[in-house]
Amino acid sequence: MLESKQVVVIGGGISGLACAYRLRQRGADVTLLEAGSHPGGLIGTFEKDGFLFESGPQSFQGTETLLQTIRELGIETELCKADPKAPRFVLRQGKLWNVPMSPQAILSSSLLGLASRWKIVSEPFRRTRPPSEEESVAKFVRRKFGHEILEYLVSPFVSGVYAGDPEKLSLRAAFPTLEEWEREYGSVLRGAMKSRAARPRDKRPAGPPPLCTFRGGNSTLARAIAAKLGDRLLLTSAVDAVRPCSSASPGVARIQFTREGRPDTLVARAVVIATPATTAARLVGVLAPSLAPKLAGIPYAPVCVVGLGYHAKQFGRVIDGFGVLIPRAEKIRTLGIVWNSSLFPGRAGEGRVAVTGIIGGATDPGIIDESEDTIASIVRLDCESVLDVAGAPIVSCVWKHPKALPQYNLGHSHVVKAIRDGERAVPGLFFAGNYLSGPSIGKCVEEAFATADATAAYLDGGSAGRP
Ligand SMILES: Cc1cc2nc3c(=O)[nH]c(=O)nc-3n(C[C@H](O)[C@H](O)[C@H](O)COP(=O)(O)OP(=O)(O)OC[C@H]3O[C@@H](n4cnc5c(N)ncnc54)[C@H](O)[C@@H]3O)c2cc1C
Repeated sequence: MLESKQVVVIGGGISGLACAYRLRQRGADVTLLEAGSHPGGLIGTFEKDGFLFESGPQSFQGTETLLQTIRELGIETELCKADPKAPRFVLRQGKLWNVPMSPQAILSSSLLGLASRWKIVSEPFRRTRPPSEEESVAKFVRRKFGHEILEYLVSPFVSGVYAGDPEKLSLRAAFPTLEEWEREYGSVLRGAMKSRAARPRDKRPAGPPPLCTFRGGNSTLARAIAAKLGDRLLLTSAVDAVRPCSSASPGVARIQFTREGRPDTLVARAVVIATPATTAARLVGVLAPSLAPKLAGIPYAPVCVVGLGYHAKQFGRVIDGFGVLIPRAEKIRTLGIVWNSSLFPGRAGEGRVAVTGIIGGATDPGIIDESEDTIASIVRLDCESVLDVAGAPIVSCVWKHPKALPQYNLGHSHVVKAIRDGERAVPGLFFAGNYLSGPSIGKCVEEAFATADATAAYLDGGSAGRP
């Protein structure tokens, strides 16, 4: 006799964990199947010789939804928030420049030439309309602000979020509000001001959400959700196939998986696939064959993460701030260096400094084929030149992510629409994951909660798919 569950969630990264957690809150009988031996997927915290490194996301934005979830989980006392006033840097001609974060700072900063600064402050008065065809991020920024702003502000930021190529990234898919603001107000800065003014005075945020982590690293979040799920989370349980049930047996799908080497099967009325899109493509091959090629076609960029630990005295400059983004025009292979021990306590110990270099992305996919030693020495040499650090690090760790981040390239919104249509066409089938509404942890959790709510409503007799 097959064990029948109401919902099976496949994939125990933050998307699957958040979805299963919310489904349990909604009273569903849920089982989460995760292929790996730890919960959290790309989220991973590692300790080495007194240094604390993150193998994936280095921090997350404390959005309202995330902070509320953290409170519910009872881990708010573990939360660390970075100083919002800490400077962020960008490299230009070998020098570190403060990234200007306000219109006044833009006007007075000499990171950008006068013409570029004028383009930013005068943008609200130059009304434009989005072109009829979908536009890349690079094309949009060149059209509205010019090449220098693309090169030294927007492209490094795009590397930081998507590890993407701005020439290929779709503005509509990656930064939809910018397109909306241009359509509605003729100006993105005017749109930003209007949307802020539209909120009640007491609901207006003073700035962007704070950057956060936990005393014990980002894995704290994954572990806390896993603890709430208890024995509903099955680790080392890789799903091999999701098939429609025969008409004689109840449920929408039979989920075949291998747990610690042994084959097993569950039957469920609803299935949430929260794996990377490439795996989702394989899993829905029988249940939703027309969706499989669309999911398989979402490109992913590889990223390598290099954690380096030093003595503070090895640095020729003070390491104080968020870190530095490195524009491609600087001809340095590392995309950016996060200054972990300056941002958060407990990362390195007294008199020591922990930094993390991020390298690869859509514009440098070949990095993933290099050996770990080569990757470590490229990032180490880049740190030496950018941060003026001398001598070998005390500690060096490398993590390779061959499929790190989905690319929201031109055409991506059509793929997401096809996935939403697919959900409605196969009642009981749902998707969650970082390829749907944004790759950040905050977006993954919001997306997962919305999927959980739609799944719970479906189980209660509501309609299929996301509203
Ligand atoms: C290097 C790097 C830096 C980043 N930096 C930041 C940052 O600073 N801030 C931020 O907010 N975000 C950051 N991100 C993005 C964010 O970490 C990810 O988008 C997010 O963690 C993805 O979560 P997910 O659950 O959607 O996917 P994943 O974490 O990929 O989880 C998918 C899970 O599915 C499991 N799985 C796969 N196949 C199967 C199967 N057949 N059966 C069962 N399970 C399966 C996998 O083992 C995995 O656990 C970064 C990402 C990377 C790679």
